[in-house]
Amino acid sequence: MAANTTPEYKFEGWLGYDSSAAQGNMVWGEYEPKPWEETDVDIKITHCGVCGSDIHTLRSGWGPTDYPCCVGHEIVGHVVRLGSKAEGGLKLGDRVGVGAQSDSCQGRKGDCEACASGLENHCPVKHVGTYNGRYFNGGKSYGGYALYNRAPSHFVIPIPAAIPSAEAAPMLCGGVTTYTPLKFHGAGPGKTVGIIGLGGLGHFAVMWAAALGADKVVVVSRTAAKKADAFKMGATDFIATDEDPAWNTKHASTLDIIISTVSSSSMPLMRYFDLLRLDGTFVQVGAPDDGLPKIGAMPLIMKRLKLTGSLIGSPRDIREMFALAVEKNVRPWVEEIPMKDANKAIVDMEEGVARYRFTLVNEPEAEAEKTPATKL
Ligand code: NAP
Ligand code: ZN
Repeated sequence: MAANTTPEYKFEGWLGYDSSAAQGNMVWGEYEPKPWEETDVDIKITHCGVCGSDIHTLRSGWGPTDYPCCVGHEIVGHVVRLGSKAEGGLKLGDRVGVGAQSDSCQGRKGDCEACASGLENHCPVKHVGTYNGRYFNGGKSYGGYALYNRAPSHFVIPIPAAIPSAEAAPMLCGGVTTYTPLKFHGAGPGKTVGIIGLGGLGHFAVMWAAALGADKVVVVSRTAAKKADAFKMGATDFIATDEDPAWNTKHASTLDIIISTVSSSSMPLMRYFDLLRLDGTFVQVGAPDDGLPKIGAMPLIMKRLKLTGSLIGSPRDIREMFALAVEKNVRPWVEEIPMKDANKAIVDMEEGVARYRFTLVNEPEAEAEKTPATKL
C-alpha cells in the first residue's frame, strides 16, 4: 500500500457481542478504529497472544464490557502507517508490539507524576486498555485478534531482532506483568521466589526469576502434572497443593517474594501466606472476577507481610524485559494457533490446555515476514 495515506485496508477481527463470546462465540467482522491522529501508528498484525484477561473481558467478568469488543493485547506486527508526529524513531515496515495498554494521559494533564516518571501503567488520570477502552478523542480501542491495529506510538515498542514474533507477542502482557513486580521487589541473588499458578503468566515468572538470579524459584501448582516442565523453565522446587494436605506447613516460612497468577477467588490465600518468611511480599497479579478470598489479619501482623499487586508494565519495562530476554535467552513456551481458530483457542485456554501460551497467527502475514522480499 502507499505509505502514510488514507489506508486501503479494513479493520476486521474477532468481535464479541455479549458475554457468551467467552464460550467461543466471537464473530469475525469489521469495526471502526479510533479516529486517526498524527501520533498514531497502524500495524499489520502477524501475531497476537491469548491472555487470561481476554476471557475475563469477553465475559464481562470485571464489569460490563463495551461490546462489540475485539480482545487481544499481546500484538506483534509491522508498521504500515506512521503519523507525522509518531514517537520513538519508528519507521514503516518496523516489527513492533503493543501490550495491554495503548494510552495514558502521557502528561497531557501536566501534573501526572506516574507518566512523568515512566509509570504510565499506573497513570491515575487515564489508562486506555488496548481493547475495551476509550481514547481521548472518543475512539474505541480494539485489540489484536484482528488484521490491523491502530495505537498511539508512545505504546508501540520495537521488537529486538533476536526474538521471534510468536515469542515476543506473549511477552507484551504476560511477560511484562511478571517481569515488572519481580524486578521492583528485588527478585535476584539472595532471594527465594515462589510462583503460584503455572499458566501463561506463571511460566514467564519462573523464567524471569531464574534469569534475574534468584537463589531458588519454587513453583506452587495444584497438581504435579507440570512439574517436569517447571524444572525445565528454571524452577528449583515444586509444590503440588492438591496432592499434599500438609504442603503449607512443610514449606512454611521459606519464601521471600511470591507472585500469584491465580485468578480464582477460592484460592487458599491464607495458606499461601504461610509460605512467606518474616517481611515477605505477596504480589497478586491474577485478577479474579469476584475478588480475593477473605483473609485474617494475623499473618500480616505476625510476620510483617506485605500484600500488594502489580499492573502490567510501562513501555520502559517492556523495553527492559526484551533486553533481559535477549541477554539471558529467555524463550517462552508458545503454541502457535491460526487466527481462524481463535474461538477454539479461548475455550482451550480457559480449560487450562495451553502449554503455556497460545499465540494466534495471521498466517499469510507471518509467512511474508519470513520472506524479506515480500511486501508487507
Ligand atoms: P492462565 O494461563 O490460565 O494461568 C492461570 C493459572 O492459575 C493456571 O495455569 C493454574 O495454574 C492457576 N489456577 C487456575 N485456577 C486455579 C485455582 N482455582 N486455584 C489455584 N490456581 C489456579 O492465565 P494467565 O493468562 O496466566 O492469567 C492469569 C491471571 O492474571 C488472569 O486473571 C489474568 O486476567 C491476570 N492478568 C493480570 C495482569 C495484571 O496486570 N495484573 C496482566 C495480565 C493478566 P496451575 O494449573 O499450575 O495450578
Ligand atoms: Zn494480558
